[in-house]
Amino acid sequence: MEKLLEVKTLTKVFTMGSILSRVRLTATDNVSFFIKPGEIFTLAGESGCGKTTTAKIILGFEEPTSGAIIHNGKDRAETKGKKVWQEEGIQAIFQDPFGTFNPLRVVDRYFFETLQNFKMAKTKREAIDLIDETLQLVGLTYDEFAGKYPSEFSGGQLQRISIARALLTKPNLLIADEPVSMVDASLRMSIVNLFKRLKEETDLGLLYITHDLATAYYVSERIAIMFRGNIVEMGSVEQVLMSPRHPYTQLLRESIPEADPKKRWSSAITLSELEHEEYMRTGCKFAGRCPHVMEKCKLEMPADVLVDNTLVKCHLYKG
Ligand code: SF4
Repeated sequence: MEKLLEVKTLTKVFTMGSILSRVRLTATDNVSFFIKPGEIFTLAGESGCGKTTTAKIILGFEEPTSGAIIHNGKDRAETKGKKVWQEEGIQAIFQDPFGTFNPLRVVDRYFFETLQNFKMAKTKREAIDLIDETLQLVGLTYDEFAGKYPSEFSGGQLQRISIARALLTKPNLLIADEPVSMVDASLRMSIVNLFKRLKEETDLGLLYITHDLATAYYVSERIAIMFRGNIVEMGSVEQVLMSPRHPYTQLLRESIPEADPKKRWSSAITLSELEHEEYMRTGCKFAGRCPHVMEKCKLEMPADVLVDNTLVKCHLYKG
């Protein structure tokens, strides 16, 4: 089976606090998954579960403490220090489309600059044709967007434009971190449908990072549920979301958390007291909230067990 991206036992440890009260926090703990060409794979969980840290490492914004990222069959460690995410065909889309563009610059400047940096067009006409072709993939045209500032677009249009910008360099993998959480509910499905269409028409792989299980179910083939740095359940969306085995997935299905619109990508890790306490647990990180908790859960981290092709990290299941 061809793998577009492989994340292997990825671990990232952050050191937090002052000199006198230093603590080490494992934000991603032996995280492993893969994405096939033309596949939408979802990484889901509430805020502070480690999904954004995973994305940052894949994009080259953070260095892992250990583990490997293999994209296009090449180990990331070999290309360390370069802007690999662009050169190797990985692009990203973020939560806030208004934060992606400077309000004082016309949006088309970003497109022309990208084409210039990647030496993709020799003349302005050629550049316009390429931009128009890419905008049409997201349902827009060059004439609709030329010379306009970000404030002249709606949130939905601007998110489409940021997707087009990401597609301009013809990547084979898109990392989309909460791409619909700041878009009106009415436009949410149109963006999600756009992802579906793109993967079918272009063989694009997509890592869809979200707290929204409804769109995850609609758009993706496979899903991994993260909790405090661990993947606790992974398998087909059908199995994981319709017959969840892990107590945390069961809880998540009943009380879907909201993404924090104020939360932006930053190098600082800020956690609530509860999140901090859960990260520091020795055994299962979910033991403090699990209705099925056993003595063993507080002492031993459960192993990954395969149950009907679904990976589950829980002492309730035996391999
Ligand atoms: Fe609950 Fe124990 Fe399973 Fe953790 S390992 S989810 S505490 S039953």
